[in-house]
Parts: sequence; C-alpha cells; structure tokens
Amino acid sequence: MQPRTKAVAAERIGDLWHLTTLERFAGAQPRTICARILINAGGPWVGDVLAVTQRRNVPASIRLVQGSHIVVPKLYAHDRCYIFQNPDKRIIFAIPYEGDFTLIGTTENDYVGDPGAATTSPADIEYLCQAVNRYFSTTIAPAQVVWTYSGVRPLYDDGASEAQAATRDYVLNLDEAGAPMLSVFGGKITTYRRLAQHALAKLDRYVPAEARHHGDWTGRSPLPGGDFPVQGFESLVNDISREYSWLGAHHSRRLARSYGTRTRAVLGGATSWASLGGDFGNGLTEAEVLYLMREEWAEDAADVIWRRSKFGLRLSLGQVSALESFMARQRARAGAA
Ligand SMILES: Cc1cc2nc3c(=O)[nH]c(=O)nc-3n(C[C@H](O)[C@H](O)[C@H](O)COP(=O)(O)OP(=O)(O)OC[C@H]3O[C@@H](n4cnc5c(N)ncnc54)[C@H](O)[C@@H]3O)c2cc1C
Repeated sequence: MQPRTKAVAAERIGDLWHLTTLERFAGAQPRTICARILINAGGPWVGDVLAVTQRRNVPASIRLVQGSHIVVPKLYAHDRCYIFQNPDKRIIFAIPYEGDFTLIGTTENDYVGDPGAATTSPADIEYLCQAVNRYFSTTIAPAQVVWTYSGVRPLYDDGASEAQAATRDYVLNLDEAGAPMLSVFGGKITTYRRLAQHALAKLDRYVPAEARHHGDWTGRSPLPGGDFPVQGFESLVNDISREYSWLGAHHSRRLARSYGTRTRAVLGGATSWASLGGDFGNGLTEAEVLYLMREEWAEDAADVIWRRSKFGLRLSLGQVSALESFMARQRARAGAA
C-alpha cells in the first residue's frame, strides 16, 4: 500500500474485515483489502478510524494534548541536554539539534480539532523563550526562532484534570465482536517495541500458528541501516570516509548518522561528488533524493527536507523549489514508464 492512503470504510463480513482505502491523488479509485485482523494505530486519529469502522461500543478514550517546539541558533557549544523546572511545575528541555541549532520544547495544552492542523502559536513561542531565558545566560527572543513544529499527543484519557498530568502509558483495546480489532490509545516512540509485542501477544490466538513469531526477538533485530555494533558508530564513519574518500569527514558523518550501513546504498558505486548528480544545497544530492524516493517513499520536497531529514533548516526557497521540480520530473518519468 502507498503512503497517503486513507482507510475510508471498514466493515466485518463473515470472519473478515473488508477495508476500503483511497489513495490521495486526483482520480484515485477506492480499493478493498480483506484481513482477518484490523489494528487501529491511528495515533491522534484513533477515534476517527473507529468512526470509519462504525464500532460504537469501543470507548474512544483519547485526550488530545498539543505540544509545540522551537528551534533557535545554537545556544551552547557542548553536546548534552538541559532539563529545566518551570514555575508552572512543567519541565522544559533544550537539546543540541542538527549541529548548528538548539531544540526547545515543549508545551502541553488540551487540543480540539483536526490534529493535522495543529500549529505553533505566538503564545507557545513566547512561553518557551521565557522558560529558557530563566536559566541560560544567552537569552533568546521570538525573532530568533528559525523553525517551529507542533504535534498532538494521543494520550489515553485517564480523567486527569491537567493536560500535563495525563498518563503517558498506552492502553490496548481488543474488540472481539466478530473479526478482531485492536485499537491503540496513547503511547510513546520510546515504547514502540514493547507496545508492538504487547499488541501481538493480545492477538496471538487469532494468528495462524505458522505465522507467529515466538519469543522477544525484536530487541535483537536492528532497524534498517542499524546493523552495526552499538559502540561502532565512529568506526562506521571511518569506514565510509575511507571507502568514499572524496566525501569528506562532515558528509561521511552526516550520511552515517542518517542512513547507518545503508549509506552505501545511497552512494552506490559513486566515485566523486559529480557522480552523485546535482547538489540542491548543503550536500543534498540527486542520488540521495532518488534513494529517498525509491526506498523511503518520499513523494515531495517536504518529505525530503522535513520528514526524512532536516535540510529545510539550511536550504533557501530557490533550492527547495529546484528540489520540488526535480522530484516532479522524476514522478512524471516514473508515471510514464
Ligand atoms: C509534541 C509531541 C511530543 C512528543 N514527545 C515524545 C517524546 O519525547 N518521546 C516519545 O517517546 N514520544 C513522544 N511523543 C509521542 C510520539 O510521537 C507518539 O507516541 C508516536 O508518534 C505514536 O506513533 P503512532 O504510529 O502510534 O501514531 P502516529 O505517528 O500519529 O501515526 C498515526 C498514523 O495514522 C495515520 N492515519 C490516521 N487516520 C488514518 C486513516 N483513516 N487511514 C489511514 N491512515 C490514517 C496518520 O496519517 C498517521 O500517519 C510526542 C508526541 C508529540 C505530539
């Protein structure tokens, strides 16, 4: 299934779920997928997905809590983080970010509306600047903010009165009135593996024996590109610098950090900068963009410069526009083939 494909309807027919999906391009036709089990991992949209399935007996116990972050030019030289106690009893962090910047977060405010429409407000920016200015000798003003982002946490609603007090634990709800549907409420990126193990354990009796994975094997299974020793990052950087000696130390490190051992798949048999194709700026080459389109489902410039990397912090509008045109040409070529 392609990214940007929406589940628009789901119903139980016999022992199966029939899920209707629609890709987000003009003229897309609905498709139906049949499945024994439906897992609703809609994050802050978990309630919307429940509405799609018309299951009204599952309590949509989700509390939407918005969090905003700001990025400013580097506030300090070392590579450690700070956690500050704020007078409102919340904590604020400052983290070294993308080499030249400091990331400061976050806010916690109850949110109503489409989670996809959350934006950082001027009040959020002011709040975070003030919080940091209580502690650092270098002060910051809203005008120095180079980028912001905001998201909506899908917290399980445990009835806490304050948004900051709502539990960060996840809750799994298994609806067994026919073909099973597991809904995920809440969760953290840091607990994704535990959550996935727990989810599969709950569904175990519905999975055919031959398809079951026994034991806690995921803890030893590296993520793509992560198949090198935990302490082996510097050695990977050195290997890449040696294999692609024309790349230079900065780009070897940046690529190793982004792609791990898959750096070799990004660079392929390149023997010089020129053989990586055009440079959109700061070392983002055509070869890397093509890799992201081919292997990581990047479809437009925002995918490349914000979702798969943070090149957006460094590229000019003209460079982004050149990238957008390049990707549009690639898409057209792929569509014609
Ligand atoms: C401000 C903020 C700060 C956070 N800080 C931390 C942190 O410091 N540490 C940490 O561990 N976690 C943190 N989190 C939590 C973390 O981001 C989430 O727990 C995590 O992203 C949840 O992943 P998920 O895949 O369950 O949901 P999501 O990443 O939200 O993915 C849900 C997906 O479902 C898709 N979807 C929705 N409706 C449909 C539909 N009808 N059809 C098809 N697809 C659909 C959406 O497009 C989306 O891609 C933070 C979250 C926020 C918002």
